[in-house]
Amino acid sequence: AIRRRPTISKLIVICALSSGGVLAYADAKSDHDFETSELTRKKKLVVLGTGWAGTSFLRNLDTSQYDVQVVSPRNYFLFTPLLPSVTCGTVEPRSIVEPIRKIMHKKVGGIKFWEAECYKIDPTNKKVLCCSNIWTNMDGSGEFAVDYDYLVIALGAKPNTFNTPGVVENCHFLKEIEDTQRIRRSVMNCFERASLPELSEEDRRKNLHFVIVGGGPTGVEFAAELHDFVSEDLAKLYPTVKDLVKISVIEAGDHILTMFDKRITEFAEEKFQRDGIDVKTNFRVVKVSDKAITMTSASSREISVPYGMVVWSTGIGTRPVILDFMKQVGQADRRVLATDEWLRVPNCDGVYALGDCATISQRKVMEDISAIFRVADKDDSGTLTVKEIKDVLDDICERYPQVELYLKSKQMKDFIDLFKDANSNAVKESKELNIEEFKKALADVDSRVKMLPATAQVAAQQGNYLAKCFNKMKICEENPEGPLRMRGSGRHRFHPFRYRHFGQFAPLGGEQTAAQLPGDWVSIGHSSQWLWYSVYASKQVSWRTRFLVVSDWMRRFIHGRDSSCI
Ligand code: FAD
Repeated sequence: AIRRRPTISKLIVICALSSGGVLAYADAKSDHDFETSELTRKKKLVVLGTGWAGTSFLRNLDTSQYDVQVVSPRNYFLFTPLLPSVTCGTVEPRSIVEPIRKIMHKKVGGIKFWEAECYKIDPTNKKVLCCSNIWTNMDGSGEFAVDYDYLVIALGAKPNTFNTPGVVENCHFLKEIEDTQRIRRSVMNCFERASLPELSEEDRRKNLHFVIVGGGPTGVEFAAELHDFVSEDLAKLYPTVKDLVKISVIEAGDHILTMFDKRITEFAEEKFQRDGIDVKTNFRVVKVSDKAITMTSASSREISVPYGMVVWSTGIGTRPVILDFMKQVGQADRRVLATDEWLRVPNCDGVYALGDCATISQRKVMEDISAIFRVADKDDSGTLTVKEIKDVLDDICERYPQVELYLKSKQMKDFIDLFKDANSNAVKESKELNIEEFKKALADVDSRVKMLPATAQVAAQQGNYLAKCFNKMKICEENPEGPLRMRGSGRHRFHPFRYRHFGQFAPLGGEQTAAQLPGDWVSIGHSSQWLWYSVYASKQVSWRTRFLVVSDWMRRFIHGRDSSCI
């Protein structure tokens, strides 16, 4: 056999074919590698916010399963229930904050933290756009994007001003740690200004008029703290002006603390009256200038009163980034971002929302409720009297604890008002209400308000619940035939979120607290104050903050509060 030498052209062909083969082989290999790496790569989990919901989620999450990134403009967790205590120096600011990196440090798998604000959520491209205030990139903007497979939105809420003119410019809010420091400085400045020579008594009185707008738990607690600060500490240090101090609480409703039991509301109002705190109910603030606050009474009488400092505490509103996101996901007609009972944002793959920034839509519950109403409509007239409706509501409350909580809150009034709107009739015990209109009213309630209260308790429980779901997600995917929960026509891997209410406190000053515990158990007085101390000490996120908070309370008992204007 004669072995023929390959010609150059043949060599080129062979080389080309073999290199093509190698390339083709390499391509197949890289496709395969890519698919395997896609399967094995950890899913990108982005968490927005380091408040109660975000931190509770992170603390309970098995971080080894995900590539976790956290975005928040705050590199710490803030224990908000003690914010009012910080405004008057009962507790120091650093005692109620815990660095988020310290919390993350304890988790395996390494969490990445970006100190930045998310300004846009892009669910189509699965990314969030962020902006840092402490860094700028090449174009000088400080902007960057973070991709996600799963997104957990826990952005909280912003103070609600109801667009009242002058509020942003002239009032203090009580939401962040910086607010407490500003308020503390402002209180001391008012006292120092009122003590200067050559001021008229009228000017001194004006400087020492402290106004709190909003008679909810935060406003009431701040008023009580301020009263204690003035009577226990400042009265001794400013003897010449102590009698000119006035604290006013302005509330648009009939009473303060309306989300609490009636006994607590009455006790709080009587105690404030004894303490000389002026509670103005049925007054709505319409304008705040740099010198005076203007309000209208129920009879539309307008009055303006001069003030030294105003704290605005009238509830919460939705953040602009959430409003923008709601528009993108077809929720533009709602006031609060809705999720289902598994905390998923509907029609938005891999996106979850929890805490103050979201609400669980009660559409299913609402449908059940209207079915109950139909049954109650025995004569099939399509109408029920308000008395009958109230009886039915009792039945509903037994079945749905979240609705019970809602109805007991001050929003019950709004709820009744909605009937009023729906029927364009004044609500009287005998008036009849049309069930179809009522259904419309229920849908309206669902889109307008948060059914669960906007509290740390709800946010923390949701964070904990969602983390447990994420921890089990992989096992569920690997075992699709595992125990699934049936609900309606769909099959779900996890139980829906169920809120457990453990009660709430309202500190009223003078070492007295009102406590409303499950089962409508109400306790008011000094014993509840000790319960408050123990609960809030035990709820601290670390031993460091627990130790600091308890030592601050002891320092206050022994030395009083610090009145330095720093
Ligand atoms: P937050 O705790 O407000 O956290 C929101 C997080 O999102 C923060 O880390 C914030 O920095 C971050 N964030 C904001 N914007 C962006 C952005 N654009 N991008 C990225 N991150 C962002 N509840 C109780 O249960 N009991 C109480 O006694 C109580 N007392 C309170 C007292 C005061 C003075 C206040 C203000 C609230 C009180 N609350 C209380 C309510 C409780 O604080 C809130 O319900 C709770 O903080 C809600 O948790 P969250 O995680 O949804 O929001």
